[in-house]
Order: sequence, then C-alpha cells, then structure tokens
Amino acid sequence: MSELRQDPTTREWVIIATERRRRPHEFDILSPSKKEISASLLEYSEDCPFCSGNEYLSPNEVKSYRTPGTNPNSKGWWVRVIPNKFAALSLNPEVSLLSRGDAKVFNTDFTGYFFPKATEIFRIKPGIGAHEVVIDTPKHNEMIPFFSDKQVQELFLMYRDRYLSLSRDPRFRYIIIFKNNGVNAGTSIIHSHSQIIATPIIPLTLRNNISQARFYYDEIGRCIFCDMIQGEIVDGRRIILQTGDFIVFHPFASTSPFETWIMPLVHEPCFASMTVDKTKALGIIVKKVLKGMRDALNDPDYNFVFNNPPIADEKEDYYHWSLRIIPRLTMKAGFEIGTGMSINTAIPEETAEFMRGFLKE
Ligand SMILES: [Zn+2]
Ligand SMILES: [Zn+2]
Repeated sequence: MSELRQDPTTREWVIIATERRRRPHEFDILSPSKKEISASLLEYSEDCPFCSGNEYLSPNEVKSYRTPGTNPNSKGWWVRVIPNKFAALSLNPEVSLLSRGDAKVFNTDFTGYFFPKATEIFRIKPGIGAHEVVIDTPKHNEMIPFFSDKQVQELFLMYRDRYLSLSRDPRFRYIIIFKNNGVNAGTSIIHSHSQIIATPIIPLTLRNNISQARFYYDEIGRCIFCDMIQGEIVDGRRIILQTGDFIVFHPFASTSPFETWIMPLVHEPCFASMTVDKTKALGIIVKKVLKGMRDALNDPDYNFVFNNPPIADEKEDYYHWSLRIIPRLTMKAGFEIGTGMSINTAIPEETAEFMRGFLKE
C-alpha cells in the first residue's frame, strides 16, 4: 500500500511509495570511488579560483573574514564572498534586456512589475538582483563534515552578515542562501562553496508557502511551523536530533529520501534575526548532520537551502525559518515534472531511525 501524505505548510501532497520502497541502507548507491577521489585531493589546487593564493583568478571580494593587516583579495582569509562570475541576476539591469534590445520600454523603477502592452502576453522584468558566492574555506580539499567547529561557525556567521547587508537594499524582496554539493546537486566545482541570491520578486513556491502559513495564522492564531514541530515532538519517530535550540527531523511528508529539516525550537521568523551564539550553534549542528549523512549514505551529493520569509515580513509571526538538506539520491521523473508532486521511495520514520544511528557521539 502506498500512502498519500500532505505537508501542512504547503498543502502539497506526497506519495510515500511503500510498494517500491527502498530500505534505508539501500540508498548507499553512489560510486565507492567518490570517497577515494576526495581523499586524493590536496589542500591547494593551482587552477582553482576559490583556493587561497589564487584570489587573482576570481572577482574582487564583497566581504571576507581575514587576519588583521592582510589585504583584500590576497591570502589571509578564512571565509570569502565574491560576486558570482556567471550571475543569474545582477546589479546591472542592462545585461538582461535580452528580449527587447530597447531599454526604453522599461521605466527605471526596478522594483516594479512590468506589464505587457495590450497586444502582448509575455511579461518581463530586468534581471536585477545580487548573486554572490561564499567560499566556505581556503582549503581545496576540506568539506563541511571535516571543518573545525570555528570554521563552520564563521561560515554561518558570514551567511548571516551577507543576509543582513543585502536585506537593506530596497530593490530586493527575497534572499535565498543555498549550497550545491556535487554534480548531482548542480555543481562540478569541488572546492566547498555556497551561494546567496537576492531577487526582486517573491518566488511562487514561497508565495504558496506564505499563503498557507498566513491562512493558518489567521484561522488558528498560531504559527503553523511551531505546531508542526510540536506534532513531530509528540510523534517522535522522525526526529534525528534535538538540542536546546534546534530540532532536526525527516518531515512527515518528505518529498525525497532522507530530506532533513533543521528548525529553531523557539519561534523565529527569519534566520538572520538569530543571535550570534545561536547562529554558531546552528553551524555545529549542520556539520554534525552532514557528517552523519556522509557516513550513512556514502558521501552523497546534496543541496541545502534556507527557507526564510520575504524581507518585508522578517518580523511577522506567521513564518518560521528552516534549513532543508536534500541528499540527491533519486531523480525527478515524468510524474514529478507533470504534477509537481513527489513520489518518495523511502519512509521517513525508517530513514530517521537509520540516521539516528549515525548521529550518536
Ligand atoms: Zn580550491
Ligand atoms: Zn513558529
């Protein structure tokens, strides 16, 4: 029997396909050579633009944490942020007027929507935004599970710093912080890095998420995410880690095997509103969870993404931030593309139990 489960925060249904489910240990499918490849990497790679010593190969830095007295764009940093050379969105809107060639069709208020003329259906908007790369470490071969506690804390403090800085720009509505790790997760660059994109619009998936959360808040008077956390605690089977500040679990309606959410236990709308101490504590937890995932699933490719509210709603009580880690163990196929629904071939209660075994001290 398969089972349909609904995510209360999106109302999206997921098919938990028990008929063709795989046992948690059967996801250890990736080529066994991957660990050997990462073991053979050196601390420095001559042609890597992210390596310490190769700063001249990358654009000038936006921000870095570095030893006092050292110059920007030279050695001496431990976390470094640069503009993305191949930015999806940029601060120079001229680059994106692809379909018209005539900049005059736009007014200069880049926060506005651009409606088509009466005879046109295609709506456009200049691709204004910010796209930054965070170089997580100066070392070519160092992955988050092996970062020192200090390094991972500084990385999460940099996410917070950049969020706070970008959120002050009135042209931006939403900021997403994410990481692609490995080819199946969308990057071929080995050197550990993350990305931050500030967009001039609020993405549709987020709009849906917001409207569900708002509706619940208006009807029930509570945060839907706080209630979901309570539901997870009462059930208990899907929790993989809990500290004084955070809960880590495989959600009831997980869309893919080993999908992992990290959330603050005490209600907090936006990640960047957290204190410095809590931000550091989050870094340690992420390191621990990624280490566990690496051990349990043979170093899978993965993405992590922060879910935050729109910038304007950072203080609104209907939203509650999360960090979602998705190991890339399966591929989306026709059904998923056609319906937007997911078929998950693992049972979250089973994968959570399996993961708990890898998170013990
Ligand atoms: Zn490198
Ligand atoms: Zn909440």
